[in-house]
Amino acid sequence: MSYVDEVYAKVVAKNPGECEFHQAVKEVLDSLKLVIEANEEKYRKEAILERLVEPERIITFRVPWVDDKGQAQVNRGYRVQFNSAIGPYKGGLRLHPSVNQSILKFLGFEQVFKNSLTGLPIGGGKGGSDFDPKGKSDREVMAFCQSFMTELYKYIGADQDVPAGDIGVGAREIGYLYGQYKKITGQYEGVLTGKGLAYGGSLARTQATGYGLVYMVVEMLKHEGQELADKTVIISGSGNVAIYATEKAQQYGAKVVALSDSNGYIYDKDGIKLDIVKEIKEVRRGRIKEYVDQVPTAVYTEGKGIWTIPCDVALPCATQNELNLDDAKTLKANGCILVAEGANMPSTREATDYYLENGILFMPGKAANAGGVATSALEMTQNSERLSWSFEEVDEKLHDIMVNIFAKAADAAERYGVPGNYVAGANIAGFEKVVDAMMAQGIV
Ligand code: NDP
Repeated sequence: MSYVDEVYAKVVAKNPGECEFHQAVKEVLDSLKLVIEANEEKYRKEAILERLVEPERIITFRVPWVDDKGQAQVNRGYRVQFNSAIGPYKGGLRLHPSVNQSILKFLGFEQVFKNSLTGLPIGGGKGGSDFDPKGKSDREVMAFCQSFMTELYKYIGADQDVPAGDIGVGAREIGYLYGQYKKITGQYEGVLTGKGLAYGGSLARTQATGYGLVYMVVEMLKHEGQELADKTVIISGSGNVAIYATEKAQQYGAKVVALSDSNGYIYDKDGIKLDIVKEIKEVRRGRIKEYVDQVPTAVYTEGKGIWTIPCDVALPCATQNELNLDDAKTLKANGCILVAEGANMPSTREATDYYLENGILFMPGKAANAGGVATSALEMTQNSERLSWSFEEVDEKLHDIMVNIFAKAADAAERYGVPGNYVAGANIAGFEKVVDAMMAQGIV
């Protein structure tokens, strides 16, 4: 059995039932085979892969809080501190009823490679809770966040672990979490990113993941001698990533015709009116179907059929495993030429293989959505400097980082004889830096 297969078998045996984690490890290890086989003896001796797939630490804790009816509630909180070889742990907090240890380990594992790809000094981590902020009052969300931070604060710090937002964690939640951290520790430090502009946040952080995704798409198309202008685009989700991917794609002259949420999707053949979506989602916290109340020519369909809409470019920006093999085939049949992942692992393994085998240009999430964490790292830099950069300055740095990530993924794919395979390219480029640091630091 090869070293890679051996380690993967151990991961499955030691982490029963953690299917999302197995899936992420398999995808990464499979694409690293070429690199690992070239250095097998050295890596085996140092147990590099075994160390890479084992989180440095997982913290699990009780989060008790009281709802508006006076009823006590209990959720489970987590922080997975996966790998700190190249910097303090960095990665978001997810609040969603589906959250469990498997999902956070898959996200933390991916984050290690993503953060390495940004070229910035940040390790990988992820956290969250099975708390559902949907339908909760602001007071309930605050009560939850305060209780969550009352435990989490022991394990984080500006030079130790710097969480950020993810699904269900936006400016409101980061504000409550930061307030509680400051109250308990008495420290006004850059311990969270995604903060409000009034208290240490960075301009362009809100837009960063979506904008960065589109900068990546533009690079991918440029490499093929094409441009984004006039392309038809569909984007799943209607949260932070989806909204700002739509905004940037429209600025490049693309026509975004569909968005979704977990209930269904809208199709607007004339192009999505983003100000209406922002009002529904960012101001009223409403549902995407409300769009058709204001744009009667648009169509709302219940369920998951967004990938049946013909497009040139598909940007899955909602959640993991939202795009399967059948969806990939439908996209291809309808003329789609490019898929780039705004969400983390939104394509199943079968869908990913299909893109690669059928000539669909594909950029995996760990490269395509790295603009968010990269800009979080820029927020950390500004906090350390006690300075705030202009929107344009941050946006320009973000753009440069995305161009660089594309170049690194393309270069690694070329070097290992699989040109255009950005899955392999991104994994290899991310892996090389982390492993260099791990080898240099000894068995720790
Ligand atoms: P938001 O909470 O702002 O939005 C998430 C969107 O996805 C919502 O429209 C939501 O619909 C939909 N969604 C969530 N869960 C499901 C589900 N199980 N099935 C169908 N739709 C679902 O999150 P973000 O936009 O921040 O994150 C989206 C994705 O991007 C995630 O995978 C996240 O990990 C990834 N990401 C985010 C970054 C960031 O900076 N925010 C950085 C890098 C990656 P509904 O409202 O109905 O739940």
